[in-house]
Parts: sequence; C-alpha cells; structure tokens
Amino acid sequence: MSRELVRKGGSYEVNVCATCRRALSKLEGFLDAIEEIIASSGWTGEKLMSHSRLKIAASGCPNACSQVQIKDLGIITYIKPELVGDCNSCGDCERVCREDGVRVDDVAIFNENCIGCGDCVRACPQNAIGGEVRFRVLAGGKLGRHPRFAEVVADVSSLEAALEIIRAGIQISAIKNKRFSEIENGIEKLRKVVKLELNQIPQELSS
Ligand code: SF4
Ligand code: SF4
Ligand code: SF4
Repeated sequence: MSRELVRKGGSYEVNVCATCRRALSKLEGFLDAIEEIIASSGWTGEKLMSHSRLKIAASGCPNACSQVQIKDLGIITYIKPELVGDCNSCGDCERVCREDGVRVDDVAIFNENCIGCGDCVRACPQNAIGGEVRFRVLAGGKLGRHPRFAEVVADVSSLEAALEIIRAGIQISAIKNKRFSEIENGIEKLRKVVKLELNQIPQELSS
C-alpha cells in the first residue's frame, strides 16, 4: 500500500511516496527538508502559475511513482543487491526478478540488468540478499510546451548528500529566478557544482 505526500506553496510543489512496502528508504522527512531549503534559498516567495513553479520529488524505489523524471529536481532510491548470507540456490530471486538481473547457478549472481528495485531482497527465504541503499539525484525534467526528461547528475550513498545537491539546484534557481528546468545549461552547472563539491554557488556558475 503506497501513500503519496504532497506539499504545495505558491512557488513550488514537492511530492514523495511514503509508507510503501517497496520503499528502500524512509523519505517522510523529505518534505520538511525541502521546504526548509526553499525558505533559506531566496527562491521566489511569489505565487506562480503552475508551469513556473519549482517541482521536486523523491521516490523510495526505481518505480519512481512520484515521477521524478519530469521534475526540476529529485531523488530515486535504489539498492545494489549482493549476497550477505547463505544462498541455498532455491531460485526465488531469479523467478521474482522482472529485469533478468540475477541468475542462480550454485549461488545467486547479480548482473548489469539489475535496476535495484529490491524485489529479490524481499523474496529471498534465506534473507541472504542485502546491499547498499543509494540515491540517484536527477535534475532538469519538465512537462509543458517543451517536455524533457530529467538527467542523473549524481549517485550518492546518503539522503543528506542527495539533499545537499538539491539545495545547490534550488540555489541556482533562486539566483536565476527561474525554475531549474528553464535555466540554460542548468544540468551542466549543477554537475559542475557536484564535481567540485562546492558549498556555495560561485558567481561564474550562476551566470
Ligand atoms: S516509487 Fe516505489 S516506494 Fe514509492 S510508491 Fe512507488 S513502488 Fe512504492
Ligand atoms: S532467493 Fe536467496 S536463497 Fe534463493 S537463490 Fe536467491 S539468494 Fe539464494
Ligand atoms: S534488485 Fe530488482 S532488478 Fe535487481 S536483481 Fe533484484 S529483483 Fe532484479
């Protein structure tokens, strides 16, 4: 059972899937965290038309029910599955995987088709599958006249690190006074910030 949480201000919309059995991370605090970032960023306090509002989302698994791919900024949680216990080669993980991401011979072996959904983790009767939960940070997606899918700008190991990248994206939006997906070369600017591990957005990246 999934429940979507939505919060709207005059200049932004944030949504997140919560309390879903498939969720690989707890995201309930995402809404408060984003509203705090927006409040401190200087992003417009004006009431904007829907197409100008900053849209941000987080999803608890790669199903991406909160439609992160069409948001200005967002997070998709995934898992890098690995064997952490005794595998009895029952084959349940291979049967449940819809991506052909795991094959069982003597033991389960994961491959590059895996999208990190976690279905095999839940299916294993031995609790033999675990792995690191990670966060893809996406930016630049939108609908409207010229729709575009968001692109991955970073892949990080903590929600805090993902939020810092979103903070940088919101700061760039505030400086440019435009929702992130409307900023020319916005994705490249954010990638540069991520690469340089900057806490402040320098003038040359915001211009
Ligand atoms: S994205 Fe995953 S965790 Fe979130 S509601 Fe959809 S299935 Fe559940
Ligand atoms: S479901 Fe678990 S025990 Fe069965 S083959 Fe997969 S990893 Fe091994
Ligand atoms: S995490 Fe999902 S995609 Fe990857 S092997 Fe397990 S079931 Fe398949």
